[in-house]
Amino acid sequence: MALKVIHDPHELQAYTLSLFREGKTVGFVPTMGYLHEGHLSLFRCARRENDVVVASIFVNPTQFGPGEDFERYPRDPQGDKEKAESEGVDVLFMPRAEDLYPLDFQTFVEVERLTRGLCGAFRPGHFRGVTTVVTKLLMLAFPTRAYFGRKDFQQWRVIEQMVRDLHLPVEIVSCPIVREPDGLAMSSRNVYLSPEERQSALSLYRSLRKAEALFREGETRPQVYEQAIRTILESAPHLKKIDYIAIVDGLTLEPVDRVERGTLIALAAHVGPARLIDNWWVGVDSLDLPS
Ligand code: AMP
Repeated sequence: MALKVIHDPHELQAYTLSLFREGKTVGFVPTMGYLHEGHLSLFRCARRENDVVVASIFVNPTQFGPGEDFERYPRDPQGDKEKAESEGVDVLFMPRAEDLYPLDFQTFVEVERLTRGLCGAFRPGHFRGVTTVVTKLLMLAFPTRAYFGRKDFQQWRVIEQMVRDLHLPVEIVSCPIVREPDGLAMSSRNVYLSPEERQSALSLYRSLRKAEALFREGETRPQVYEQAIRTILESAPHLKKIDYIAIVDGLTLEPVDRVERGTLIALAAHVGPARLIDNWWVGVDSLDLPS
């Protein structure tokens, strides 16, 4: 089936409801576009598990705070269409902001406890924007399954919670982080980095590798991990600010007393003009790449 591009929300909804009535399974991948291998890995996963694959490209204004990078967020609609088509995506939904947020729009979805820490503490209103747009997109794409990358680990957990709390009829599937050959987590925002800044950005991955090495040595004290990670990050020349080094339970996202299988080590830091995040899920992910 050739790629079908839909801009109108009602057209998408009419189409996916007809698929539902025919008993077809739909896999849905929401993205902000400027597609890279991380996104494509989600498309492939959705392709394997569903009859029809729907992806969306929408740079959602409500999840950006004042002074964040909404205006300069990279966009490449033509390149995105080509990549989606070559991965076997059936429908690409590219709505206009005014169609998702008409002037009288006034309804928001908010998840409470899980959004207080990590990125929620540094980006007020961010998750409210994410959960609102994802709810809207789920109501339009009406998928059997929706796919999220663990690059945005907290986002995945928050959406899982929201789907459970609101009884939304969709299965949430998470997929592992896709990295560049040198370990840098793929991100549309990596395009902001100069070659020197990109070298500094590798310190996030290196510090997570260090954490993995500590775990293999049997270290369990969170403060030892925190200090080792901080030392590596602070020695990177273009690293401007660490937002957080979080050592938390992978389900509740609450701080832990002991690092063990299921603990999440999550980082956010500003490198040059980019705010970057990365994480390692202890005992689940392997960081087995060249350092
Ligand atoms: P974004 O376009 O950045 O909003 O991301 C759309 C989806 O792709 C989210 O579920 C992200 O977690 C996922 N994603 C982004 N980068 C990666 C990556 N490097 N590996 C795996 N998933 C990713």
